[in-house]
Amino acid sequence: MTRIFICLIALISMVRAEEKRPNILFIFSDDHAAHAIGAYGSKINQTPHIDRLAKEGVRFDNCFVTNSICTPSRAVVLTGKYSHKNGTPVFNRFDGSQPTVQKYLQNAGYHTGMIGKWHLGSDPVGFNYWEILPGQGAYHDPMLYTAEGPKKYPGQYASDVITDRTIHFLENRPKDKPFFVFCGHKAPHRPWETHSRYAAFKDKVIPEPATLRDDGATRTDAFHEQEQSVARDLTRRDLKLAPPDDLKGPERNKWLNVAPMEVQVNGRVITGDELVKWKYQRYMQDYLACVQSVDDSVGRLLDYLDKEGLGRNTIIIYSSDQGFFLGDNGMYDKRFMYEPSLRMPFLVRWPAGIKAGSVQKAMTINPDFAPTFLDAAGLPVPPDMQGRSLLPLLKGETPAGWRTSMYYRYYHDPGDHNTRAHLGVRTETHKLIHFWKKDQWEMFDLRNDSGEQKNLYNDPAQAEIVAKLKAELARLKKELQDNDEFAEGPPPAGVDGGAKKRPPGN
Ligand code: CA
Repeated sequence: MTRIFICLIALISMVRAEEKRPNILFIFSDDHAAHAIGAYGSKINQTPHIDRLAKEGVRFDNCFVTNSICTPSRAVVLTGKYSHKNGTPVFNRFDGSQPTVQKYLQNAGYHTGMIGKWHLGSDPVGFNYWEILPGQGAYHDPMLYTAEGPKKYPGQYASDVITDRTIHFLENRPKDKPFFVFCGHKAPHRPWETHSRYAAFKDKVIPEPATLRDDGATRTDAFHEQEQSVARDLTRRDLKLAPPDDLKGPERNKWLNVAPMEVQVNGRVITGDELVKWKYQRYMQDYLACVQSVDDSVGRLLDYLDKEGLGRNTIIIYSSDQGFFLGDNGMYDKRFMYEPSLRMPFLVRWPAGIKAGSVQKAMTINPDFAPTFLDAAGLPVPPDMQGRSLLPLLKGETPAGWRTSMYYRYYHDPGDHNTRAHLGVRTETHKLIHFWKKDQWEMFDLRNDSGEQKNLYNDPAQAEIVAKLKAELARLKKELQDNDEFAEGPPPAGVDGGAKKRPPGN
């Protein structure tokens, strides 16, 4: 009898321990800039469902990416390590044999899933179930790969399929285990193909950012050499211009890939600044329609979890692999260490652990995500992870000695959009960028120049602060053991940001 009683007590305490381990739903969007989210004060759109996470949880205001591009950011998130430590500085294949957050969670008894955009070039490892888009995947009639082979979703839109399959994973999970699911959205990534239900966006007039006509007057060559300018580089494909009917095959593609310097609109040819305005509107109307499909997905996922009674002890995170230029500094895309591209949205709802409506100003980075998930699951953070757990910050505390600067490094040069390689440091007030292959520098005072319009690097009055920033950059580089392995030469062979074909496992 005593033995039965002891067993019963042991069983009850096990169940209680299990109850305490939170589920984790990590919604990781693609190219979704924080300034296109209502909770972050968007002036261009509304995201009521994503905003719920801020209202019912915490909004992180200073979350930054350490290498602003899709594949590298994802590798950082899964490993808790910077690009120079996880072997994925550009679009090369991720080595799935290395330790990752999902493996640690799975080994600790979590049921793990990966649904949607993965974009790491090798098959997912450490997931009980996975279903991934090949590369960027298709918006319409998408096909996803599983361990058993491809699955097709004719007549459907990618954001809806990713939501459906995430819910399917949750419905079919073992109910006696906590879950970790990575829900990867793709829609805000170029080329911004929309679902017909968002057609009303084509009639919207989107306010222009203050720096749309940034002439880069004080910036280095890198600013002028980039090919991610709204005015110069958006193509007919990006702008959804219809090719002449008689163009077929390669000729049609060639036509679509041209960045037009004049366009016929309502029977009239427009050029110059009128065309820049028009291009910005076309770009943003489609981008925001894609964002809306992701916001709707977040609404469905929240409703599902709440309906199932899982809301209270599920940590729901909304973030994106980097920020994005929404006409800011005259650009689209990401890559640069400038604020619109560097800043990540990071919103967390966890009613059991977070006070609703919190705002966290501490500086956080994407290598912090993996340690946070492990800490929340009650697991130790491996010493080789380079980020720090955000668990205390979720609860409104900022541990003593929390970081006040972050290290950045972008490697993909030569690469898409002709963006120059650079590294840099951002403090709470300043930013120093070194385009190391050109040995050119930029420095900004973010307190007076949030749009990064004035490069102060050569201003004699700033010499002291420049020296301090250089010392901090050197300190971080050393502390993070970045020993320049990728400093010279082109990125490894076979790199590609697109989804032209599926290499094994992508
Ligand atoms: Ca991305």
